[in-house]
Amino acid sequence: MSALAFTYTALPARVVFGAGSVSKIGSELERLRCKRPLVLSTPQQCKDAAALAKSLGDAPVFAEAAMHTPANVTARGLEAAASAGADCLVAFGGGSTIGLGKAIKLRTGLKLLAVPTTYAGSEATPILGQTEQGRKTTLRDMAVLPEAIVYDVELTLTLPAPMVVASGLNAVAHAVEGLYAHDANPVTSGLAEQGIAALAASLPRILEAPRDVEARSQALFGAWACGTVLGAVGMGLHHKLCHVLGGSFDLPHAETHAIILPYAAAYNATAAPEAMARVARVLGRGDGPDGLHDLAMRLGAPTALRDIGMPANGIDHAADLATAEPYPNPRRIERGAIRALLADAYAGTWTRQA
Ligand code: NAD
Repeated sequence: MSALAFTYTALPARVVFGAGSVSKIGSELERLRCKRPLVLSTPQQCKDAAALAKSLGDAPVFAEAAMHTPANVTARGLEAAASAGADCLVAFGGGSTIGLGKAIKLRTGLKLLAVPTTYAGSEATPILGQTEQGRKTTLRDMAVLPEAIVYDVELTLTLPAPMVVASGLNAVAHAVEGLYAHDANPVTSGLAEQGIAALAASLPRILEAPRDVEARSQALFGAWACGTVLGAVGMGLHHKLCHVLGGSFDLPHAETHAIILPYAAAYNATAAPEAMARVARVLGRGDGPDGLHDLAMRLGAPTALRDIGMPANGIDHAADLATAEPYPNPRRIERGAIRALLADAYAGTWTRQA
């Protein structure tokens, strides 16, 4: 272990957390000096979004948010904000809806209040992924960071089990990569440990008792902690692989993260022994990657890329893309080893028992 040295820029964040805190959105908007919110949601959550909008003085709703922030949806959202004369945005939903809020904020400067209903963590990051004509680009800009986040556990009680698992493991992946990030620091690593611990403890409880408010609350706290880590430090191999797989084969975002996580951790284990020791300790296991794999199995998460739509003949293409322009990563990116990782993740073959 070497002497401690780090550079850390903390992101500004106002977080209002608690059961029933949705009732505080009105006062949060007053605090931001906003009077005419536009509420954003997906089509699937439009009913709940409409109820929230009603409580905010019959605010208008734009309910077209979609995965990966398509440019045409953003364009329609901009029109909706302009025609409503909106002076702020309330993004009610998961990463897709918060992405739409960030995309409109970037282009208008409108203030953004995020009301997350999944564990994706986008609300805590200055990162925005957008898609135009099938091409996804990602930017990091402080201009997209929400001014405030209202976490209300009651809004997450309806999140269905498969989403709880996939989105929860997606959050754990941010924290695991945060622990071995090239720019990790004691604050983000402490938060990463807290986030992994909170999610590992709460996700199995939620599956047993979906309306367990205490467990749901612990998971939502974990999501914030993991999202904060994602927003503050750089991601490595795991995120590169997920980006390539999602972009090449249109695989579902959270499920891809859930499947790749133990494999990416195993790839990096020898190069990041301290990070993996922390993961192992938090999970109460002898080995970090084995602990992550066991957690996924225990939660009944998807474990093979072939089960979520990856074609067998895509392995080589993915290995080529993943080894071109790699993200900073503790272990050198070697094509042969990455191809082997992808082949194992494709079939769901897990052999590590350290
Ligand atoms: P999502 O926002 O796409 O939501 C998935 C589905 O679940 C939607 O139909 C949504 O309406 C529904 N849903 C959400 N909350 C619900 C609830 N409480 N009850 C019932 N249904 C609910 O999924 P996600 O995993 O939160 O977000 C994925 C997107 O977020 C991807 O586009 C990803 O790239 C992005 N993302 C961005 C960041 C970032 O920092 N920029 C971080 C993580 C994810």
